[in-house]
Amino acid sequence: STIPKIVILGAGYGGILTAQRLQKELNYNEADVTLVNRHDYHYFTTHLHMPAAGTDSIEHTRVSISKLIDEFKIDLVKSNVKEIRLSDRKVILQDGTLSFDYLVIALGGEPESFGIPGLSEYAMTIRSINSVRLIREHIEYQFALYKLDESRTDRLNFVVGGAGFSGIEFVAELADRIPRLCKEYDVDPSLVNIYNVEAAPAILPGFDSELVEYAQNVLVKKGVQFKIGIAIKECMEDGVVLANGEVIRSATVVWTGGIRGNRLVEAAGFETSRGRVMVDEYLHAPGYEHVFIIGDNSIMLNPEGRPYPPTAQIAMQQGVTCAQNVVASIRNKELKKFAFSNKGTVASLGKGEAVASAFGKKYKGWVAAQIKKLVDIRYLFIIGGIPLVLKKGRFL
Ligand code: FAD
Ligand code: NAD
Repeated sequence: STIPKIVILGAGYGGILTAQRLQKELNYNEADVTLVNRHDYHYFTTHLHMPAAGTDSIEHTRVSISKLIDEFKIDLVKSNVKEIRLSDRKVILQDGTLSFDYLVIALGGEPESFGIPGLSEYAMTIRSINSVRLIREHIEYQFALYKLDESRTDRLNFVVGGAGFSGIEFVAELADRIPRLCKEYDVDPSLVNIYNVEAAPAILPGFDSELVEYAQNVLVKKGVQFKIGIAIKECMEDGVVLANGEVIRSATVVWTGGIRGNRLVEAAGFETSRGRVMVDEYLHAPGYEHVFIIGDNSIMLNPEGRPYPPTAQIAMQQGVTCAQNVVASIRNKELKKFAFSNKGTVASLGKGEAVASAFGKKYKGWVAAQIKKLVDIRYLFIIGGIPLVLKKGRFL
């Protein structure tokens, strides 16, 4: 047929928003839309630090994709993307091939290990439902193993590498969970050590200094031990080596030291910087009018010429503009320039605590924690309306 084929790769923040907007804007039989994702569920990456530490359930962190899209309008393909072939406009899946006229790449990022020896082998990462299941079970298992051999107090040492937003949000949840694990496993809490190692001179590099100080105080009170201004230079099966030569013995290293673009994007032949593609103002990959890249795999510069940090917030907004631009391309209409509207940043610091900076104002503690809940609920409402808010929302 002559109906254009639109293929969206990835059903994360960018991909879901693109798909939903396309199904709203496209007329009947105006295009074939296929959404490819390796799972049949969409997960809330912004929530993963909780199931990782075991402070919330997996079921609060994901939703079946079929509940989010209209499968009469969009073909959902549960498969792994293996290769993007730009020259013959095909995507190779683990179990088939798709051809496209328009491609939207929304595959999300991957952990960046900066070539630090041992990290990819021995450290765990917070990237997906399955990666956080592993962290949660691994932590509980260390408590169980310790009870069989109480000489192994190193099993009660937990190391988080990197104190960016992911590291801080995770370490806060971990600090909330540890007292409960100690009770459950009859372990003396004073034997447990939570270390957060950060290479930069401060935690949350670049964030408002008053909020950084507040966050650090809250976490120290919860029992987190910070090592600031020291990089992890090696990871081993039984611990990490720091740049100053210090060794922390631990069977649990969670790496939150940064992300990069998806390897498939690099492999497709785009010019990338750490796996991410500098897209134009319409979200096109440079030189490809029919290929759009959004979310963690794209780079866009702010008015000061610095890249926007890769966030769910920008990925969602890009998804909407991307869908509008695909439709405009099909209709030979003028494309829209993407303009980021920054709603601010909120970082959770565990139960009842958070820091937020929005619209030039700063918020701390309980108020900031309520803002975080509102942000989460707003997202559920945007993608799934009231039913999803009631099903997955956390109000307490
Ligand atoms: P993703 O949301 O990562 O989606 C990518 C999708 O592609 C996934 O569904 C994945 O399964 C799928 N996929 C990947 N590879 C393949 C393949 N080969 N084949 C098929 N499917 C594939 N940002 C904020 O704005 N606010 C926050 O509060 C916030 N909190 C965060 C907390 C944590 C713990 C973390 C790790 C990140 C947080 N972020 C936050 C960042 C945010 O999650 C990301 O920027 C966002 O998820 C990027 O969206 P995306 O659409 O590019 O990719
Ligand atoms: P990041 O790159 O923001 O932070 C990584 C941290 O690890 C940095 O502080 C870096 O200095 C440190 N680091 C790097 N190498 C190190 C080493 N060898 N030893 C010790 N420390 C090292 O990564 P992230 O925290 O995963 O965040 C990724 C993106 O997701 C960011 O854009 C962030 O804004 C976004 N995010 C947002 C939120 C939120 O808004 N609440 C939460 C999580 C993530």
